[in-house]
Amino acid sequence: MTADATPNRAPLNWPAIFMFLITTIPVVTVLPWYWATFGFDGFEWVCFFVLWALNGMSITAGYHRLWAHRSYEASKPLQIFYMLFGAMALQNSILVWASSHRVHHRHVDDVDHDPYSAKRGLWFSHLGWMLRNYESGKQDFRNAKDLEANPIVAFQHKYYVPIAVGMNFGIPLLLGWMHGDIWGSLLLGGFLRLVVSHHCTFFINSLAHFWGSRPYTTENTARDNGILALFTWGEGYHNYHHLFQWDYRNGIRWYQWDPTKWLISAAKFVGLARSLKRVPEFQIRQALVERQLQKAEENLGQCQDHGRLAALRQSLEAEAQHFKETLAHWATLQQKKVEAAKKAVIDHIEHTEFAHRVRELEESLRQQYLRVRLIAVQAA
Ligand SMILES: [Zn+2]
Ligand SMILES: [Zn+2]
Repeated sequence: MTADATPNRAPLNWPAIFMFLITTIPVVTVLPWYWATFGFDGFEWVCFFVLWALNGMSITAGYHRLWAHRSYEASKPLQIFYMLFGAMALQNSILVWASSHRVHHRHVDDVDHDPYSAKRGLWFSHLGWMLRNYESGKQDFRNAKDLEANPIVAFQHKYYVPIAVGMNFGIPLLLGWMHGDIWGSLLLGGFLRLVVSHHCTFFINSLAHFWGSRPYTTENTARDNGILALFTWGEGYHNYHHLFQWDYRNGIRWYQWDPTKWLISAAKFVGLARSLKRVPEFQIRQALVERQLQKAEENLGQCQDHGRLAALRQSLEAEAQHFKETLAHWATLQQKKVEAAKKAVIDHIEHTEFAHRVRELEESLRQQYLRVRLIAVQAA
């Protein structure tokens, strides 16, 4: 462990500590008393959920998938919306957030370079990294030139404090004044919303690196977790996200809870977003099979049943060979497609034919995944 990774060395980050204290203390003191004495009504709870959703998804769809990863393009009105409601989430400016998130992806788990490395523990990756000015959290915008050049991002960075304070007090006060209960609105829509929204976002840096499965890669600590997705506007599929960070989706299947991807799709539908990036299905299936082959291999290495071992090993070798052949088929198909496109001879029929053959290969990988998983289970 290096000097920087040793706690208590780095100087305390007083503005962050102060911010966490003034948001958390009223939630654990005044709010329960107010709730027990005066109660909150339906309107106030609706405001709490709506503001949490607006803040949460301005972070996930805006700060994260748009600005940190450029997984799609957003129109100016949508960017302004994310900029305002993202500032309201009090997680620093887009520039700071997205730049350090890019560092997180680049150096994931590295105790010296990943600003919220899970290898430094659950507490550190959740909140601890913000409480001190660690060397690993040093701001360096050289990885965010594109964001510095964006006038909306630059404006928010320059006026971050007035925007954040104005949104945090302005909106709950306005809602409370309209509803006739300023204190109730401020406590729920202001303080509780901030604390809940903070910790749910922080879960992605902490719990999503500790709790869940790793169906795509074991190269890093990131996990897929459907329960976490419920609290994080769909960001719980973090193992997938760390392998394919430029996909605008985190939960790629239709049944996976990812309201952020639905928001982005809806924005595209009404003309507010475009160029949504998706990892080709074949590559996703390829990663799944590769990981499953690796798992079966590990399980076979542990298998004590020598009678079963020989047969399983033979099956696994056949699967590995079949996998190689599928990849070779796909590569040939891609090559042909590129050549046809270059010669501008690709017509509609050919295009359909290519798509059909790719789908066949995807289906072949889907079937293979199930077979290899069975081998892994039998060897366990
Ligand atoms: Zn991560
Ligand atoms: Zn990310």
